[in-house]
Amino acid sequence: MKNILITGGAGFIGSHLSEKLLNEGNHVICLDNFFTGSRKNIEHLMDNKEFELIRHDIVEPILIEVDEIYNLACPASPVHYQYNAIKTIKTSVLGVTNMLGLAKRAKAKILQASTSEVYGDPLVHPQREDYWGNVNTIGIRSCYDEGKRVAETLMMDYHRQHNVDIKIIRIFNTYGPRMAENDGRVVSNFIVQALKGQDITIYGDGSQTRSFCYVDDLVRGMTALMNKEGFMGPVNVGNDGEYTIKELAEMIIELTNSNSKIVYKPLPSDDPCKRRPDLTLARRELGYEPEVHVKDGLKKTIEYFAGVI
Ligand code: NAD
Ligand code: UDP
Repeated sequence: MKNILITGGAGFIGSHLSEKLLNEGNHVICLDNFFTGSRKNIEHLMDNKEFELIRHDIVEPILIEVDEIYNLACPASPVHYQYNAIKTIKTSVLGVTNMLGLAKRAKAKILQASTSEVYGDPLVHPQREDYWGNVNTIGIRSCYDEGKRVAETLMMDYHRQHNVDIKIIRIFNTYGPRMAENDGRVVSNFIVQALKGQDITIYGDGSQTRSFCYVDDLVRGMTALMNKEGFMGPVNVGNDGEYTIKELAEMIIELTNSNSKIVYKPLPSDDPCKRRPDLTLARRELGYEPEVHVKDGLKKTIEYFAGVI
């Protein structure tokens, strides 16, 4: 049995990861400041004697003994990470430094939840790990994108300087049950709008593309990376199907049988035009393969939101 710390454990991805690691027989310490996460996401785990909850902000140091750290704490949706941009970048710089300090002292392995946003508005398609990205340093997304880039740098420097056992996963757009209703990301927005019969808000002309990964596939990739000896990444994990945002809207309207109409709103600045992971490295090093087709994943997510709304 391992003692595993999950920061951001009460968030969308963190709650699924907590569940998986508990099912595999580990002791899980979930640490969260509840900025975008909620107690509701982990309510079903609270009776498990191997589950521990700590309310804490990773911008402040913490002293505990652990074998592994999954560092997920950071708001992930543009609406939330732009709400307090300075706090967002502090979470990725001071927060990650604190978690690396903890990993160094406790001799724990640490996995950082990085993001496809490190590629910015990519000039190379699909994105491979050796692409350095096209990121605006001064835009409204920079607090998140540049924060995550510095976090990767800190991970590498703690590895080179202090021999910390690190893992970097670059997560591509992930969706599924327990996304917050007010999360603001495209899948939850469109599903909630479709179920409520409200207008579906496409930003721009809807020709921008994304690749959508179901959360079960992602957490499988995360634990595979943590458990792979001698491989630290960075490695892309996601689903390599690629859809325009307009196609996504039409799929969700069809799957919900909704009467909602599509309306077009201005495209936020620095919104990436296209995005799709090259998964060659994940396939080779982790034996990773996305298993859930977007239509099946959307059906499960729609079912979840239908129960919540
Ligand atoms: P989420 O907002 O549901 O989860 C983030 C969690 O971190 C929340 O529970 C929040 O309360 C907590 N948190 C935020 N700041 C904190 C702080 N300073 N101290 C302690 N806790 C803090 O988002 P998510 O989609 O579950 O994302 C989890 C991680 O995965 C994030 O690091 C995100 O950047 C990364 N990621 C997610 C996606 C995606 O598509 N979902 C894509 C790329 C990367
Ligand atoms: N988007 C949209 N309508 C919404 C929310 C998002 O058209 O209600 C667009 C957004 O502009 C972007 C894409 O959907 O082009 C994915 O947005 P999201 O915030 O989910 O993720 P990210 O941009 O971080 O990949």
